[in-house]
Amino acid sequence: MTEQADPDTGVEGGGLDHGFDPAARLAEQRDRNLDRDLQPADCVAARARMAPDPRGNRPDYGDERLVFAANNYLGLAQDDRVVCAAQEAAESVGTGAGASRLVTGDTRLHRALERDIADAKGTERALLFSSGYAANVGTITALAPDVVFSDELNHASIIDGCRLSGAETVVYDHCDPNSLAEEMAARGIVGDGDEQCGADVQPDADEQRDADEQRDTDESWLVVTDSVFSMDGDVAPLAEICDVAERFGAWVMVDEAHATGLYDGGGIVQRDGLADRVQVQMGTLSKALASQGGYIAGSESLIEHVVNAARSFVFSTGLAPPAVGAAREALRIAREGDRREQLWDNVEYLRDGLTSLGYDVLGETQILPVLVGSRDDAVALADRIRDCGIVAPAIRPPTVPEGTSRIRIAPMATHTTAELDRCLDAFETAGLERGLL
Ligand code: PMP
Repeated sequence: MTEQADPDTGVEGGGLDHGFDPAARLAEQRDRNLDRDLQPADCVAARARMAPDPRGNRPDYGDERLVFAANNYLGLAQDDRVVCAAQEAAESVGTGAGASRLVTGDTRLHRALERDIADAKGTERALLFSSGYAANVGTITALAPDVVFSDELNHASIIDGCRLSGAETVVYDHCDPNSLAEEMAARGIVGDGDEQCGADVQPDADEQRDADEQRDTDESWLVVTDSVFSMDGDVAPLAEICDVAERFGAWVMVDEAHATGLYDGGGIVQRDGLADRVQVQMGTLSKALASQGGYIAGSESLIEHVVNAARSFVFSTGLAPPAVGAAREALRIAREGDRREQLWDNVEYLRDGLTSLGYDVLGETQILPVLVGSRDDAVALADRIRDCGIVAPAIRPPTVPEGTSRIRIAPMATHTTAELDRCLDAFETAGLERGLL
């Protein structure tokens, strides 16, 4: 030890920065317009009564502003039944799990939710993690594939899982099974050329022979993709991706974070009837399921392996019981269907309204990205609709490509028609003022 350690923090160096200068790094990000701010905490509620506007402006709608960007798609985070389930779990089991599931943190409640998820997903087993992020990182590292084929727009937690796993990571073009097949063929991973599949890439006999010689059949290959992409609201062509993966002998892992609970209480894998072709279904409890935590669902042997090998599971405290109780009740309600119908009605209403105003609305799901173009227009539009009482963020580069800045709207099942109209009014006012319509 060269310097005295601070007795409170254990940090050595008594005020010296040792090369770390967070303020300078933040300033650098600000200069490049890449900084982010925390929003007032109650912004997640549907009818958020928010703290004073951070920019000191007074919104037109009194103190009330409506959030149109939460991932609480079914509006269940404020549902009495879900709130009660969280309270009951806290009262009967406690507010915290107290330890890793492998030590003393395992409860009947955790197991019950895992059974419910496995049932909704059509798998033998499911496993809870403390977040979706931890589920992706832990599972991909536990699988330790030799090669991962990853969609270019996959979520950061998938990217981090790939990096940490040490696998060779091959990025294929967004939602493009042909690009996936080409990348596999380029690595000598060539499947049965006679089989028909969604992709057009078929090896000729010589290529197949060369590839078979190169191919080490003990190698493991994993294809990983989001099902619903959060910034574009589009959906991966999962059946075609499975076709390619099967032809080339790879496993498929699907991140259903933005789809869980919205399709028959399951995700796109359920909608498309692919449960027996997708080896790992992953998702989060933090979006439509109104809680916190992540999960994977798959075979008994997969789950047993991950329980032993995923460091983010082994070395992390079990999910807090109120989060488990809330997610369990939310999943039950999601599977009933009424809330889902309300959500899809609202999505259609808003999409039609925005399109009639003259906006270009992307996506094919509950996520409605309103394409604006330039960063400045997107930021100005987001600011103006906020003044009109509507909260939805501007999404700018580098999150999305230059020239495709957008406002990402996500209606909830609980928005009323009057509230949807208020959102449309705000977009009309802001768009006309900015000369976008
Ligand atoms: N995957 C995707 C596609 C996501 O959008 C998110 C959350 N934004 C996650 C994983 C991580 O989930 P969680 O928030 O539960 O950590």
